[in-house]
Amino acid sequence: MIRKRFRKMNELDKVTWEVAGAIALAFVALFIATFRVSNFTSLFVILFSAIIVSFSVISQSWTRYFLLAVLAGILWLLMILRNDGDGLYRLLVIARFLLTGVCFVYFSTVVTQISQRSYIAVEKISKEREETLKKSQELVGRLSALIVVITAISTKATLKDVLTEGLKAAREALGADSGLIYSVRGESGEMSIVGSFGYSEEMLRKMKEKGIKDSSSCLACARREPIVVDDLLADDKCQSLAGVESGSSVCAPIISGDTLWGVLHLRRQEDAAFSKEEIQFVLAMTYQFGLAMERASLFEQVSMLAITDSLTGLYNYRKLERDLQGEVVRSKRYNHPFSFIMADIDDFKKFNDLYGHPLGDEVLRRVAEAIEGSRREADRVYRYGGEEFCVLLPETGWVEAVDVAERIRTAIESLTIKAKSLRKPLKVTLSLGIASFPDDSEEKSGIIASADAALYVAKESGKNRVVAFCETKERPLRRAHPDA
Ligand code: GH3
Ligand code: MG
Ligand code: MG
Repeated sequence: MIRKRFRKMNELDKVTWEVAGAIALAFVALFIATFRVSNFTSLFVILFSAIIVSFSVISQSWTRYFLLAVLAGILWLLMILRNDGDGLYRLLVIARFLLTGVCFVYFSTVVTQISQRSYIAVEKISKEREETLKKSQELVGRLSALIVVITAISTKATLKDVLTEGLKAAREALGADSGLIYSVRGESGEMSIVGSFGYSEEMLRKMKEKGIKDSSSCLACARREPIVVDDLLADDKCQSLAGVESGSSVCAPIISGDTLWGVLHLRRQEDAAFSKEEIQFVLAMTYQFGLAMERASLFEQVSMLAITDSLTGLYNYRKLERDLQGEVVRSKRYNHPFSFIMADIDDFKKFNDLYGHPLGDEVLRRVAEAIEGSRREADRVYRYGGEEFCVLLPETGWVEAVDVAERIRTAIESLTIKAKSLRKPLKVTLSLGIASFPDDSEEKSGIIASADAALYVAKESGKNRVVAFCETKERPLRRAHPDA
């Protein structure tokens, strides 16, 4: 019953009871040993008991019993020398002393073992606490690194910026020796390196040469999960890493929903250097990259919509205003010329009136396409509004602009617009007015007004022609631009 209850006790209660029992036993034994013994012998019994207690606390070996026997012998000798009692009395005192000694050895052993057990338990607890603390510190470290990564990429509005900033943040968070970030191009799945660190120019050139033509040949993309290579010398790896012959790497796809945006590749010089936790961290990071890419893509789409004309796909008036102002500032700063063409479809109203607005829209689209096709690389085409278009020609004087405008005019002239409802293909012509900076005006509104005035002259003098504002200066301008 008592034993059962003892077993059920917790460790602390057990220890308390054990110590209490041992102390009680020791005092009972001491009492028995000194009962009706002369003062002098009692003094030695107590003194020797103290010696055996101290020694038993220090040592747990059999020498405790050897010491006990030696002390019993000394006590016997002392009693003989002092002529203390007869032989039987001395034998009884020694026997009681030996019994007490054994109790003290037991008592000391119990106390020592308990204190050692407690020490070991405390040490174990503190080790466990240390480990837990270390783990939580690592977790906090990774979480703060993730927050840093998220903060770094969330402020980026373009897809390229998200990827390059993401690579930078990943490098700092994981302390990799080298790394790359690939972007995957739309439908084709072609992959190209948009950022790198730690790889030599030569190595990058080789990687770019080998390239990854198609995302399906990238294992991380095909499986849509991180691919870890523990030994880049021995293990299987992709073509692009053919030249990398040491260390270990992790490649993680950047995905949001079903869209694959790119791949993050990180490498360390040591073999098998990426722990499970770090790979999970890479996964959490690339997940954030995916979200940021989606956000940036939506932002790019919205920004594009804001500056695009929905009918023709050309830049709209909002974008024209911004670009023209920018061009004025830039050209003033560098003291360079630029030209501006304002084009208007001749007698466009008749297309709407005779064949309906849908065909009128088709004419607008075809004219826009033809102007786009005839512009030079650096020029930009805009729909000003209605059936009016503009072309901005940086670094171009009016003479050169006349050539470009003439090319556009002939391209439109040679256009044929066919439709089921038409018996014969339609022909369309364009009148164009040119203004140049700084000769015609040094202000945005002045440039538009001058080009408009030149266009008006082109219309007045028979349509389907190009007129530069500087050629009209002799003639009176009958129509002023609303902005002027
Ligand atoms: P001009 O040779 O003097 O330029 O004559 P025009 O008929 O081209 O010029 P006008 O200003 O009289 O007519 C322009 C017409 O363009 C009027 C308008 O209905 C039409 N228009 C403007 N925007 C659109 C559009 O988005 N779609 C269609 N189908 N027609 C449009
Ligand atoms: Mg018009
Ligand atoms: Mg017109």
